[in-house]
Amino acid sequence: MDITEIIKATIKVYKECHVTSFPIDCMALLEHYGYRIFTYDELWKKNQKLYDICLACSEDAFRDGINKIIAYNSHNPNGRIRFSLMHELGHHIMGHVGESDLNEQEANAFASHILAPRMAIYYSKCKDPESVSKVFEISNDAATIAFDDYHRWHKHVIKYKMTYLDKFMYAQFYDADQDAFVWSIKECDFCGATLYNSHSDHCAHCMVPEPVVHYHYHDPPLHNIDMGLFRHLENKWLYGDC
Ligand SMILES: [Zn+2]
Ligand SMILES: [Zn+2]
Repeated sequence: MDITEIIKATIKVYKECHVTSFPIDCMALLEHYGYRIFTYDELWKKNQKLYDICLACSEDAFRDGINKIIAYNSHNPNGRIRFSLMHELGHHIMGHVGESDLNEQEANAFASHILAPRMAIYYSKCKDPESVSKVFEISNDAATIAFDDYHRWHKHVIKYKMTYLDKFMYAQFYDADQDAFVWSIKECDFCGATLYNSHSDHCAHCMVPEPVVHYHYHDPPLHNIDMGLFRHLENKWLYGDC
């Protein structure tokens, strides 16, 4: 498997689909390449035989490259669905014909890199797989693999500097106005202001303060207990009225 060719393929998709922010919109990418997308449940309603074929092929997703149809299992967790969809896009972009272990490996690598490119993990300052999973909307397992591979990439960059491919990736996400690699563009949930490279869903003005916890009630310390009353109640409980 030539990982350089796979990263080249992801950059081609970013360019053709004008991807400028993470998490990527998997459905929009598939639609850009002419795919109609169905859930397995929708297929079952339309044609039960077709549904049986899809499910026999994969519990996750199925692609018919001739009729440009992709079906996926909507009962899976979101991260797994996104990975399956990008795995299928990988087969399409790399022009795979037929099934082979190599094709499967390439489609998996394509999905991992397009969902969470190692350079974007670096610039988003993710410190662990949990934050990679959150920022790029991928499963914990996929995030752990991507995070490990990011370390490998980072060591290589420190030792040998950026490759030409790294430079293409940087150029794709470089924003002249921000004068930075932009890995996230979103709107503040409250006021709609544009947020660049923010881990928060709100701008600084709309930031909600952390809730303050008030303790209104304290258990009385043990020495304040009326031990006479306590014994009386205890005896009442143990032996009935006395
Ligand atoms: Zn596959
Ligand atoms: Zn705001």
